[in-house]
Amino acid sequence: MGLSKNSTGKKVISNIEDFNNVDYTIAIAGNPNVGKSTIFNSLTGMHQHTGNWTGKTVENAAGICNYKNKRYLLVDIPGTYSLIADSEEEKIARNYISSGKADVTLVIVDATCLERNLNLVFQIMNLTPKVIVCVNLLDEAKKKGISVDIGKLSNLLGIPVVGTIARKKKTLTNLENTLYNACEGNLIFSPNKIEVQNDDETFLSKVFEKAHNISEKVCSIENQNYNERDKRIDRILTSKKFGIPIMILFFCLIFWITIVGANYPSELLSNLFASIEPWLRNIFINISAPAWLISLLFDGIYKTVTWIISVMLPPLAIFFPLFTLLEDLGYLPRIAFNLDKCFKKCCSSGKQALTMCMGFGCNAAGVIGCRIISSKRERLIAILTNSFVPCNGRFPFLITIATIFFSGAIYSGETLKSSLISTFIVFIVICIGIGFTFLVSYVLSKTILKGSTDCTLLELPPYRKPQIGKILVHSLVDRILFVLGRALSVAVPAGIILWILSNIHIADLSLLTYVANFFDPFARLMGLDGYILTAFILGLPANEIVLPIILMCYMQAGSLVDMSNIHSIFEILSNNGWTIVTAINVMLFSLLHFPCATTLLTIKKETKSWKWCFVSFILPTVIGIIMCMIVNLIFNIFI
Ligand code: GDP
Repeated sequence: MGLSKNSTGKKVISNIEDFNNVDYTIAIAGNPNVGKSTIFNSLTGMHQHTGNWTGKTVENAAGICNYKNKRYLLVDIPGTYSLIADSEEEKIARNYISSGKADVTLVIVDATCLERNLNLVFQIMNLTPKVIVCVNLLDEAKKKGISVDIGKLSNLLGIPVVGTIARKKKTLTNLENTLYNACEGNLIFSPNKIEVQNDDETFLSKVFEKAHNISEKVCSIENQNYNERDKRIDRILTSKKFGIPIMILFFCLIFWITIVGANYPSELLSNLFASIEPWLRNIFINISAPAWLISLLFDGIYKTVTWIISVMLPPLAIFFPLFTLLEDLGYLPRIAFNLDKCFKKCCSSGKQALTMCMGFGCNAAGVIGCRIISSKRERLIAILTNSFVPCNGRFPFLITIATIFFSGAIYSGETLKSSLISTFIVFIVICIGIGFTFLVSYVLSKTILKGSTDCTLLELPPYRKPQIGKILVHSLVDRILFVLGRALSVAVPAGIILWILSNIHIADLSLLTYVANFFDPFARLMGLDGYILTAFILGLPANEIVLPIILMCYMQAGSLVDMSNIHSIFEILSNNGWTIVTAINVMLFSLLHFPCATTLLTIKKETKSWKWCFVSFILPTVIGIIMCMIVNLIFNIFI
């Protein structure tokens, strides 16, 4: 099969031709955020990312659907408002629809704003002969007092039209039937096309006129103030006064819940792994496995892997569903709206706020998300600055250091006060990251990436009731397991390398010590030490493994210290000379250093240039080094 998973965990097709033995191919098109992915998922049983904001499907995705003994290839193409402009998604969509590869093109439209959606329908009708319209979100329309006369719409367009509520699978039977009949040639298509040759402007004005006329005829609105509630909420959430403070409050709340909620399960898992270890070790001892193998398996691999599971899994399991909840509600575009002005002031795209938010989940996903920005210059700025926001691989690290060194939990136990202080520290780190995003975007747009700012308007989608069950499944399957799987697949080889480095000795010193000693003088200038810098370098494949590597470096002498709670971690770190200054610098460098290998490869793929990949590596690293040196200098001089 031609299915592969990209770095967001989404199934994408490398080559649609790889799907053999299908009877028919159906393209699914539509405006962004109308339920295309939901319909695609329902029909194919797949898990394309769904979310309440514009532009998350940026690649064609494909899946198979079986109905009445026929096999259909469904191709979900990126959501677009039109097919005339030149953004990446529009090109992909236009090329696919006009390629003739699909037997039928299904256009999903939003019943709550039919007029705007019909614009796209008319454009598609001009590209391909067999078009079916699916009027989705009928439940939302009903709530808003809007009703759509499906039969009349079908007559006026001259093509089949069906109504659905994609979240209710039952309502899709009619759609499946219509697709079947259309493919089998049982339906008549006499599309009411707009014939204008070679003049985009005249064509578009005709499209707007016709879409307006038809929607007037088929839609009846009971209550003209139907979206008054959304407007009222938006007046607060996007207001000048409250917009940003509320946004900060939401994020702090998410971090706080993550920090408090993750503590207990983290410790539980850690204790569990610690108690299993001697038992497993004994099995190997009993079968007389060589001592080096036992050491490699347990001191190397087991320690790193179980650390990652116990420290990363609980915060991920809490943070991702909460973040997805905000996404499903439709809050992310409001964040973009609030930050729009700041980004415009930095001469970059307002949509960068959205890709920045995606970066909180995973920087590689954030970089792919930058495709929603149509100007090449602004897209590059967004790509180069995406790693300035800490991804999920770095949150547990930041939270652990903040809790150990700043919250006072070491002395007074983990209390409400200590969790609030940790939240505050993580919040400050994020603010520094966002600050650098603005600063670097500004500097780039005034130097190597000069140009004018694109004035595209951001769209605020309607608020939708989130589906808690789906959020949990989606967060677990697509995000948590994916991120964890990636971290673990990196942890095993990293554990092996680390074990080898710390167990091969030349003249009494391990190879690891030689490497660390080499970096030590430079690291000291940054307020770190050679081991910390070595850990960051070894952590290039995935940020998640930096802290376990630091701890394992310190414990290489073989004295296995219990890593199950913050007290023992604190003991190891402070025995190795860590102070508050080290903690600050480590957090700073974790925020500001080269992106992980997955992100770098994604950047290379997206920009098709090693040069930009190199810039994205060197830029945050140099900034991080300078920042750490400044902080270190200030502390050395004044304190
Ligand atoms: P896409 O951008 O067109 O792929 O849209 P998605 O499939 O990601 O859906 C956008 C949002 O609308 C998600 O939160 C869906 O759960 C929600 N959604 C999709 N269809 C319906 C529907 O018929 N009714 C309601 N209430 N919500 C829907």
